Amino acid sequence: MKKQATKYIFVVGGVMSGVGKGITSSSIGAIMQARGFVTTAIKIDPYINVDAGTMNPTEHGEVFVLDDGDECDQDMGNYERFLGLNLSRVNYMTTGRVYQEVIRRERNLEYGGKNVQVVPDVPLEAIRRIEKAGADIKADVVVVEVGGTVGEYENILFLEAARMMKFKYPNDVAFVMVSYVPIPSKVGEMKTKPTQHASRTLNSVGVQADVIIARSEVPLDKKRKDKIAIFCNLRPEHVISAPDVDSIYDVPVNFERDKIGEILSQILKLPNHRTTDLTQWKDLARKARTVKKPLNIAVVGKYFDSGDFVLSDVYISVLEALKLSAYHNGIKPVLTYINSKNIETGKMKVAELAKYDGILVPGGFGTAGIEGIIKAIQYAREKKIPYFGLCYGMQLAVIEYARHMAGITGATSREINPEAKELVIDIMEEQKKLLENKNYGGTMRLGAYPAYLKKGTIARGAYKAEMVSERHRHRYEVNNAYVEKLEKAGLVFSGTSPSGKLMEIAELPKSKHPFFLGTQFHPEFTARPFAPHPLFTEFVKAAKARSGKK
Ligand code: GLN
Repeated sequence: MKKQATKYIFVVGGVMSGVGKGITSSSIGAIMQARGFVTTAIKIDPYINVDAGTMNPTEHGEVFVLDDGDECDQDMGNYERFLGLNLSRVNYMTTGRVYQEVIRRERNLEYGGKNVQVVPDVPLEAIRRIEKAGADIKADVVVVEVGGTVGEYENILFLEAARMMKFKYPNDVAFVMVSYVPIPSKVGEMKTKPTQHASRTLNSVGVQADVIIARSEVPLDKKRKDKIAIFCNLRPEHVISAPDVDSIYDVPVNFERDKIGEILSQILKLPNHRTTDLTQWKDLARKARTVKKPLNIAVVGKYFDSGDFVLSDVYISVLEALKLSAYHNGIKPVLTYINSKNIETGKMKVAELAKYDGILVPGGFGTAGIEGIIKAIQYAREKKIPYFGLCYGMQLAVIEYARHMAGITGATSREINPEAKELVIDIMEEQKKLLENKNYGGTMRLGAYPAYLKKGTIARGAYKAEMVSERHRHRYEVNNAYVEKLEKAGLVFSGTSPSGKLMEIAELPKSKHPFFLGTQFHPEFTARPFAPHPLFTEFVKAAKARSGKK
């Protein structure tokens, strides 16, 4: 039988950003996958940056890292979690990345002497990437999320690419517009006008939405569905009600209430005899809704704020990884973000950490608040509070141990004080030149590397495997010159690179501490809804045991 043509679902934003386009795209992907189609997803970010790696977290939120080392948008994390896939750099593009390739090809005479133009050559490069991402995994369905909102200047070339794809494959492209239907408090009624305007703006670039996802505080009534349908030129059943939800894991189940899987299959002329099997999702959504017992976790680190708001988005994968492990253990993580500067200056007493069930130090960069973090780690170690350190959180735990247990009193990292004598954490050899040449973009140790796990350790017991693969994003590492001294003092390097040269996991034996473990890599990137990460699960279990004793 001839294989069905690949189908493309473009998800675009109308009205305003921040109403869950990423979760919508992920959920549509999960639904099409649950209907038995091989599905992948692509994120298009309209900014000039080639990747997200050089951006400040306050600008961008979390930088998500793929197996192949691509530093990308946090939505890629949502796709990986919702689709259970490992994506690669073909699944992510930015304006910068697209232009970079067009210009590279022009310099290599690959356009054969032609006048290379913004249109069509830039959209054509976007289309080439979209098709390649589908072809690489022989996808039946490719979900393409176009960042930004219709009507803005930045994403216009990508909307043009979408329009051109519809022209190229008239039966194989569908457009989904994620809109917002406000209920102004003084009016007390749902207003569809912004959606109507967004739909017309989309029409003005030659695109007609096939489906409109109407985000709102409450479900859409029939009257609003009919109104959106007539003014936006689509069938009322194609207006999907997307009310606010408590948990993102409710979204696929909610969409299916309005039969989005069947609708998209019809539009795309996909075999429609299949039903959407969302049993797993329903189960997860139920757990997320019903777990009540709180697990209080302190996240100690740099405090990222934007105006009056704390940007918890910076740690979105950490939060999801914690939630997933916790849900499967019948508890609900409650995170408190603690600014380590307050511990450093004495504004907050470190002893206040006693009330938490676990302490987590996530990844980070630079020197701000470092001594405060080290104090928090020391407290967690001495008071036997479960501690989990991710990347910088591992390096700082090694420094803490070196200073207070191995007699290396001046221990620090080159990142903190390059002049210091006892650089327990030092720059990786291959990173030195890169930094000297100010070659910052995409040059850290990035992506998946294997690690060997030592027998009889917490890590080995958690993973139940001898070799694992985990994702990295760092320039510094544990200095080998201090490994023996640290081990003699009781620290166990339970995970190393296969050569034994790079320290990947540091831990304390269970006999000394219920859970004190740090990873040079970022386990949060590979936690999945139906396969929580084993180290997060171990941490959560240890924290749960402490909460039970209190
Ligand atoms: N700043 C540290 C390094 O570059 C840790 C990086 C991180 O936490 N992602 O090695």
